[in-house]
Amino acid sequence: TMLFDSLAGQMSETMRKLQGSDKLTEKNVESSVKEVRRALLDADVNLKVVNSLIKDVKARALGEKVLEGVKPGQQFIKIIYDELARIMGSEATPLARKDASAESPTVILLAGLQGAGKTTAAAKLALYCKSEAKPRRVLLCACDVYRPAAIEQLKTLGASIDTEVFAMGTDVEPERIAREAISYAKKNKFDTVIVDTAGRQVIDTKLMAELKRVKNSVTPDEILLVVDAMTGQEAANLTRAFNDAVGITGAILTKLDGDTRGGAALSVKQVSGRPIKFVGVGEKVEKLEPFYPERMASRILG
Ligand code: GDP
Repeated sequence: TMLFDSLAGQMSETMRKLQGSDKLTEKNVESSVKEVRRALLDADVNLKVVNSLIKDVKARALGEKVLEGVKPGQQFIKIIYDELARIMGSEATPLARKDASAESPTVILLAGLQGAGKTTAAAKLALYCKSEAKPRRVLLCACDVYRPAAIEQLKTLGASIDTEVFAMGTDVEPERIAREAISYAKKNKFDTVIVDTAGRQVIDTKLMAELKRVKNSVTPDEILLVVDAMTGQEAANLTRAFNDAVGITGAILTKLDGDTRGGAALSVKQVSGRPIKFVGVGEKVEKLEPFYPERMASRILG
């Protein structure tokens, strides 16, 4: 395939070193392993994640008989690619949606650090849900009670996509705002509620405690961690902290329009076992795409 050829091109050293061998051995894969390791670290994949990936790749590669008509270097690259794709899941994963007969709306909770792109992602998701083959009736809910500007931002974005925003200002506890948004949604026949929550600069216990309270007050169908693709190495710790606190069901990787290679995607999946569901590829509200693991694998390796 084209993807495979481009990977082989990138891993030129690997191809050269393994040329002419008919078996993948400890000795002849060693330099290739180094090259792959460097490529992954360059892509900001977390060190622990890289090490565990390399271990799996080596275990699979060693002693594997090289298939007839395939060069060992090619076979090695294929193994890496397979492992990457396996870790990230083999296809795009859909967004939760309750049955049309459900009495309560589908609730999607967004969490993440400040500046990750939560508020933007909330509006992007709303637009996405409204544009599905069977369009949803979406209510946005503003729960960032620490930043009045965030509430205004959500209202502005909501207006731009013709979507109502439920807000109660900054003097009400976020868990109550979320709960009342659900009641409002039920009364007014919204089938999906997207809840934007507060973020902080750093992971702290107060933020996590608040998030747990919001979660417990609305039992979300989906809890998406919004991660800035530029987060790099830290993405693993970030994911662990949020996942331990509230149990995420997936993630949105934002700012992939930047020049980052997106190793954070691998970290999120490896640490939480949960898929990246969407990627943000620009500031505009329509700049949201489903996540395609194969594309990401080649971006990370390239
Ligand atoms: P929040 O604090 O997590 O709610 O973050 P915001 O939604 O306010 O986003 C922070 C900044 O990142 C804003 O300037 C957004 O326009 C920008 N942003 C969000 N998503 C993307 C994206 O996918 N690509 C780019 N280039 N910028 C983004």
